Amino acid sequence: MFNTIVNNNNDLVNILEKICGKENVLSAYDEVYAYSTDSTNIVNPEEIAQAVVFVENKEQVIEIMKYAYKNAVPVVARAAGTNVCGACLPKKGGIIISFAKMNKIIEINKNNLICKVEPGVVVEDLQKEAEKYDLFYPPDPSNLKASMIGGSIGLSSGGPHTFKYGSVKDYVIDLEIVTSDGTIFHTGSSCSKDVTGYNLTQLFVGSEGTLGIVVQATIRLIPKPEAKRVMLAYFDTLEDTSKTVNEIISNLITPSVIDLMDKNTLKTIESFYPSGLLTDKTAALLIEIDGFKADINNQYNKIIEICKTNNSSYIQTAQTKEEEEKIWISRRSSFGATAKLAPNVVTEDVVVPRENIVPLVKGIWSICSKYDLKTCIMGHIGDGNIHPNIALDLRNPNEFNNFQQAKKELFDLALSLNGRLSGEHGIGCEKSFYINKALDQNSLEFMKKIKQLFDPKNILNPNKIFS
Ligand SMILES: Cc1cc2nc3c(=O)[nH]c(=O)nc-3n(C[C@H](O)[C@H](O)[C@H](O)COP(=O)(O)OP(=O)(O)OC[C@H]3O[C@@H](n4cnc5c(N)ncnc54)[C@H](O)[C@@H]3O)c2cc1C
Repeated sequence: MFNTIVNNNNDLVNILEKICGKENVLSAYDEVYAYSTDSTNIVNPEEIAQAVVFVENKEQVIEIMKYAYKNAVPVVARAAGTNVCGACLPKKGGIIISFAKMNKIIEINKNNLICKVEPGVVVEDLQKEAEKYDLFYPPDPSNLKASMIGGSIGLSSGGPHTFKYGSVKDYVIDLEIVTSDGTIFHTGSSCSKDVTGYNLTQLFVGSEGTLGIVVQATIRLIPKPEAKRVMLAYFDTLEDTSKTVNEIISNLITPSVIDLMDKNTLKTIESFYPSGLLTDKTAALLIEIDGFKADINNQYNKIIEICKTNNSSYIQTAQTKEEEEKIWISRRSSFGATAKLAPNVVTEDVVVPRENIVPLVKGIWSICSKYDLKTCIMGHIGDGNIHPNIALDLRNPNEFNNFQQAKKELFDLALSLNGRLSGEHGIGCEKSFYINKALDQNSLEFMKKIKQLFDPKNILNPNKIFS
């Protein structure tokens, strides 16, 4: 595998301007720098792109890839750039293709329960459009107001609704892909069932733009639930919190959301975005149930009873849409609130089988306290997926080194509990140093062969997933 950094910036910019128009190309250092970052806060000034190009159609993507392939220029696809694992950092320079202008919802087909979208559609915009047809697109990363479909496909994003409804991989049924040499093809079809050949769609979902570029996606939608209810149950021990989750499930209830916030998270949100959260409890569960109106009260009453039996010390239930929204806004503020504690915030995303959630969370508390890291833990407890949000100053060598050490111990801990490095945020370049330890060696070799097949010159988002 090889890469060449293009030295003659003018040639590259001229070509891009010819393909996409002058108004769609950025090449000034400060402009390109801004697009060479993501939500990891980590930018190496020597690893910025030569140009950013805003594409408006797939034909332009094909032309760019033909040029890039011929000249071995690295290409990074970029959606909103909100990933937290360094997934769209231009580690080898080259071209950043921004999909911000390819943001059309092409079709919503109620009869077939599908939609066709361009990759730059913002997730919340798709959700709102689907709702007009009484349909629902459940995979909503907490930053759904920014996150775009192309980026969430690149990482197979999840979010709060994954426990009941699954993540992006469960909804994408066809992708139109442009490969590294400019070939265009479909991975699947618009049929809700399809076993005609290999499942290439799933190969591309979560591949972080390293195998091909998505220029259109066909996505499954489901009927919108008729009603929902939201509540917060507080606990004094993690054991009671976890027991409550298990008992809700064993009572045949599948909440649409079952998220955990620890004491530090509750305190931090309340300090910066006061919304009446209790700050003296060890943990809170945000529980949302949905379904038919006639069934909601049954589920609700059962859950309240289970929470009480398991020593919930306080239960807040939203009585109005406004109160529901207030709980959601506070939950979605957890990352932003932690960001106010220090110049930077980094977040991890380990996942374990749900039965190991208590040792995982306790282990994270202990590792972060050992390395003196200010940590707010929240996560999708129903999925065994935990996000320690760590507030620190990445410019402080001591804090940076402590974080690096803590990260290794966190990954060791997750693996020792039969877990994985990432449940929904991806690997990018931030976790790639550990991938050899985390994967079966034969499966890793097959992954590298797949990369070689689709991207023989290693120009598509190089240095991601594998170090
Ligand atoms: C505050 C906050 C909350 C978050 N909450 C969640 C959450 O609840 N759940 C969750 O899963 N994640 C969450 N994330 C992580 C992240 O934002 C999401 O994964 C999000 O879906 C990424 O979308 P994006 O549009 O920003 O993608 P980007 O960061 O732009 O890109 C992500 C990856 O997709 C690739 N890509 C982009 N476009 C294309 C394309 N057209 N073709 C091929 N590859 C492409 C990129 O190269 C990159 O590898 C959160 C992040 C933040 C900052």
